[in-house]
Amino acid sequence: MPLPQSCLLWFRQDLRLTDNPALVAAAAKGSILPIYIYDTAHPKQWQMGAASRWWLHHSLTALDQSIEGHLRIFMGDPLKIIPELLNQTGIRSIVWNRCYEPWQIQRDTQLKKQLLEDEIEVESFNGTLLWEPWKIHKEDGSPYKVFTPYYRRGCLNAPEPRRPSKAPQKMKWMHPRLNDTCLSDLALMPTINWYEQIAAQWQPGEAGAQEHLSRFIDDNIQNYKQGRDYPNLKSTSRLSPHLHFGEISPNTVWHRARQAFNSNIRNANLDCFLSELGWREFSYYQLFHFPDLPEKNFQEKFDRFPWGKDTAALKAWQKGQTGVPIVDAGMRELWQTGYMHNRVRMIVGSFLVKNLLQHWSQGEQWFWDCLVDADLASNSASWQWVAGSGADAAPYFRIFNPVTQGQKFDANGAYVRQYCPELSEVPDKFIHCPWEASPNVLQQAGLELGVDYPKPIVDLKASRQRALIAFSQIKS
Ligand code: FAD
Repeated sequence: MPLPQSCLLWFRQDLRLTDNPALVAAAAKGSILPIYIYDTAHPKQWQMGAASRWWLHHSLTALDQSIEGHLRIFMGDPLKIIPELLNQTGIRSIVWNRCYEPWQIQRDTQLKKQLLEDEIEVESFNGTLLWEPWKIHKEDGSPYKVFTPYYRRGCLNAPEPRRPSKAPQKMKWMHPRLNDTCLSDLALMPTINWYEQIAAQWQPGEAGAQEHLSRFIDDNIQNYKQGRDYPNLKSTSRLSPHLHFGEISPNTVWHRARQAFNSNIRNANLDCFLSELGWREFSYYQLFHFPDLPEKNFQEKFDRFPWGKDTAALKAWQKGQTGVPIVDAGMRELWQTGYMHNRVRMIVGSFLVKNLLQHWSQGEQWFWDCLVDADLASNSASWQWVAGSGADAAPYFRIFNPVTQGQKFDANGAYVRQYCPELSEVPDKFIHCPWEASPNVLQQAGLELGVDYPKPIVDLKASRQRALIAFSQIKS
């Protein structure tokens, strides 16, 4: 017989012990049965990509270790598994932290209704966002569509995000006999080993997240505003995958950052870093209020945009073989590390959508599969931002010039040289535009364009012009 105060704790995107409101509630009730369900029944289109599955495998391993092997793993439909588990164990109470993808909201609402009808106690908590999306709105009650008023007027005037809590001191785990499965049965690890370099870069799990945060606070936060734009400096926090899987809470990051500046919110570096966490919130906010965001143009006029279909160009982009060095370096960074620097994400995105005229959803899907931080809210909001079709998006006519972007943010080409070693001997002057170098310079650099490294697959000037003309067709 279960203890009268036993509780099912459903881990989802909150794979941590520190500042986990559902865990705190479960521990306060009595003994805990901690479960993870790999949901194969619900997301039709947005099943996890390959890099995310690799990450999840390791994150679950780390979580299980931190609770001394008590995590019980299931695969299938939570709408069936959870009622069966409650029935089997006699547990009458369940807790979880809320998730915000549209299919998750639908599933959880249905489950909650079903459980309440069976007189099961259900409690959900906010362990993922600084501000609940339904609590921030304009004076007339409608949702914000522009970031600055959303964040500065809406969020910063709302109550400050709660302070993080410690992991409960005492946790009593249940270990009933169950029909659960083991982690390897989820088959999250790829059969081909493409992940070696990714594995060398990251430590999935709560300990890795805390270490990343401490390193960032010690080494980089004091120069964040300037440093964040230079891909070679690696001076951003790299917390995005840890935040996505909930290995660290945004509240922990928010308050640790404030502490580092003695809460001096006028400090430009602190303000800038907190506002990036604000962009994460805004992405979730947009997805909550406009659940079609991953599939549909936020601005309907983009439904008429004359996108091209160029499979060869798309392939060249995906493989980092476009002949435009900063674009290729970014796409190779993504392939090799499961991550790409934010500035480079904007450059490669603009290149795909504007210079190559390919639909933003092509980029969204590739990123979804390759990024270790693939996140439905941030990925779709960002791709729509890049394309110009989103809420508060970059105007379509603002087309990043990858050469000048490279010259500005990777002046000596260190980033390009790291990911495109065939260009390593090209002088700084031509590192972002090797096609402008004379045959003599190229020969000295040991580079034959079209042989060792591709010639650009589009003319930057002409393709820019073509994009502007395409845009002018939908402007009105
Ligand atoms: P930092 O600069 O250290 O920022 C701290 C945290 O703030 C990040 O970890 C992240 O959670 C959040 N953040 C920062 N910038 C943004 C932003 N522009 N939008 C939303 N949140 C932000 N981010 C994802 O987490 N998942 C994605 O799938 C994703 N796809 C993107 C696709 C494109 C085309 C673009 C342009 C951006 C995308 N981003 C995505 C946003 C951003 O590039 C990453 O969050 C950031 O590069 C992560 O690195 P970091 O943790 O070092 O960021």
